[in-house]
Amino acid sequence: MTVLTSVAGFPRIGQNRELKRIIESYWKGAATLDEVRSTARSLRARHWQLQASAGIDLIASNDFSYYDQMLDTAILLNAIPQRYRRLAFDNPEETLFAMARGYQGERGDVTALPMKKWFTTNYHYLVPEIEPQATIRLNGTKPFDEYLEARSLGVETKPVLIGPYTFLKLARTPQAEELDYDQGLVNAVADVYAQIVTRFAELGAAWVQIDEPYLVLDKEPGDVELFKSLYARILPARTGKAGTVRILLNTYFGHIADVYETVNLLGFDGLGLDLNEGRDENLAAIERYGVNSATTIFAGVVNGRNIWRNDYTASLALIDQLREHTADVAVSTASSLLHVPFSTQGEDALGEDVLRHFAFAVEKVGETADIAALSELDAAGRATSPVLAANRALFDGTRTAADPAVVARLAALNDADFVRQPAREQRQREQREALGLPLLPTTTIGSFPQTGDIRAERAKLRHGDIDQAAYDAFMKERIDECIRRQEEIGLDVLVHGEFERNDMVEYFGQNLNGFLFTRNAWVQSYGTRCVKPPIVWGDVSRANPITVAWSAYAQSRTDHVMKGMLTGPVTILNWSWPREDITNEEQTRQLALAIRDEVLDLEAAGIRVIQIDEAALREKLPLRRSDWHKKYLDWAIPAFRLVHSAVKPTTQIHTHMCYSEFNDIIRDIDAMDADVISFEASRGDLVVLDAIHDADFATEAGPGVYDIHSPRIPSEQEIEERIDEILKKMDVEKVWINPDCGLKTRGEAETWPSLEHLVAAAKSVRARL
Ligand code: GLN
Ligand code: ZN
Repeated sequence: MTVLTSVAGFPRIGQNRELKRIIESYWKGAATLDEVRSTARSLRARHWQLQASAGIDLIASNDFSYYDQMLDTAILLNAIPQRYRRLAFDNPEETLFAMARGYQGERGDVTALPMKKWFTTNYHYLVPEIEPQATIRLNGTKPFDEYLEARSLGVETKPVLIGPYTFLKLARTPQAEELDYDQGLVNAVADVYAQIVTRFAELGAAWVQIDEPYLVLDKEPGDVELFKSLYARILPARTGKAGTVRILLNTYFGHIADVYETVNLLGFDGLGLDLNEGRDENLAAIERYGVNSATTIFAGVVNGRNIWRNDYTASLALIDQLREHTADVAVSTASSLLHVPFSTQGEDALGEDVLRHFAFAVEKVGETADIAALSELDAAGRATSPVLAANRALFDGTRTAADPAVVARLAALNDADFVRQPAREQRQREQREALGLPLLPTTTIGSFPQTGDIRAERAKLRHGDIDQAAYDAFMKERIDECIRRQEEIGLDVLVHGEFERNDMVEYFGQNLNGFLFTRNAWVQSYGTRCVKPPIVWGDVSRANPITVAWSAYAQSRTDHVMKGMLTGPVTILNWSWPREDITNEEQTRQLALAIRDEVLDLEAAGIRVIQIDEAALREKLPLRRSDWHKKYLDWAIPAFRLVHSAVKPTTQIHTHMCYSEFNDIIRDIDAMDADVISFEASRGDLVVLDAIHDADFATEAGPGVYDIHSPRIPSEQEIEERIDEILKKMDVEKVWINPDCGLKTRGEAETWPSLEHLVAAAKSVRARL
């Protein structure tokens, strides 16, 4: 028996972010389009060959993208809004980049398509826009070109497409509304896919992979019919003049138990199931409905979302379990490997005893091949396999010893540790008095512009060109200057500016026990932007105070209230690679205790307002609503309360969130029991304000009064109008006035005038009250 292996997709940015570098140089005018194309071609070749030599049978093609695969899909379906067509570029790449980033130049001035988070990952896709007059038809030859390009290199690939159901569910109208799935549109989209499938049959491809991650979400009325009507037109197209291609319907990031019966009856040639995130439900569905005799199950056992080694014994057990229902089981990655770094090669600073526990994309390709080979062995063969023995050794015993002090602290927690006293209403009254703040207090979110000289100073310290004392002196000067200017323009609650922080998560990770850092483990976040999350390796605790000296220094330089600035436990975990040997809940609690120590030390050092940022709270909210509470919010929200529950009533706790999409979890956010929250409200603002109003939101709130993501300087008048809008929906006693996020990415030139207008607007509204 030979077991088929499949990789759903491979990272395209390159081992050393070659794609990022060449595209960014092209944008700056320092490289030509031909150079971009040639780097892209050599990256594709390298990635295909690497998978071929690892023995993968079904290697993806068309998983490459200059910017985003959803954008490529929109272009392939000819869903290119008129405003981009009118720019009339000579090269398709130029139109693509205009859609991705906007365009301002001699041909016109257009904004980019909106960008959204790709399911629960930190990858962002461009939201396709379908105009009413759009003609959906096959546009361009990208999937065929890349398939033939691989073939010319001697690699037979499996072309990958984002499926029509996922495309239609994620695309929007020009008004940013969900599409009306009229039959004309549905048929037109299905027909393009049918045409593509037929073309691949004619080209002689053995398989086409169609990704439908949207199938793992809760279904709305009409969804199943939509799915069926699309595939009723696509499946018959498998046979062309010259041959037949098999269709692998691939699902990931969760289970499809609610449509499994329908999908199974349709008789796809292959069905990809996520056996990490959707394991139990997917297995139960197979148990219940069996497997269509026409279908090979692609067992998604190799996790495309983590950096840890696969537990081969567990994966083999899953495959054996599937084989009780069907003989046709292929071994696959659970999702594309796009969401993991390239390779552990070169991370030598971590040491072999650490590195052997990690599998990035290259290593995961190897794991896929290993597991398939092992699954071909009988019990005796497995028992003597050195590969299996070596893998088992990684999981035998404990990878890292528990920290007894952390264990003891967690065990000693009781319900009261998660509840702050007295009740919020009373605290808010006492705080107003103790802090002496006016109505509509003004503040900022924490960071001030991180200019080049600040980053240069950090690099000098890292390279040993300056000593700690010189670095500290430089930072203190920056803090002094920042405080002086905040006083000058008349802000009420000041901040020190966060100049000493490289990143709001990495900075804390570097100062906590239990974290590891890589040199080159970048993951694409959007377009050419990549992130390098730290790794949670062991039990987390705080060795020493982290921010206390900086905040205390800043407070000593002003009579105003100085706000201390921390990152919350949920956000630290969501923007790191979490452990798998203990639950996310437990890791978050460890982090919560560490940050709690910092909160209490800040309070003891005389800091009276402390902000605990939970920018990424929504990021890991489960895809299915029925899981929201029991799988996430029920522990994430209490973990936040644990951080601040022990402070004095007069110490004011703030939090900040980076998005306005929280109307559906508004009560949970209130249950964090912060005294004040600031959040983004530049778009979708009215909906959130209505939600705040309707929920009787008890937390004082600062819905951002201007958008810091744009260099535009808002006028005093427009901020005043915004405040008036807010006051229509909120009790004036509960309103704070602030920008909608940190100012770190902005320049000085726009920051100060904007804040001057903000303060002036608040004063002028106050005068009218
Ligand atoms: N305090 C952080 C800052 O101002 C918050 C950043 C964020 O919300 N992403 O930069
Ligand atoms: Zn923010």
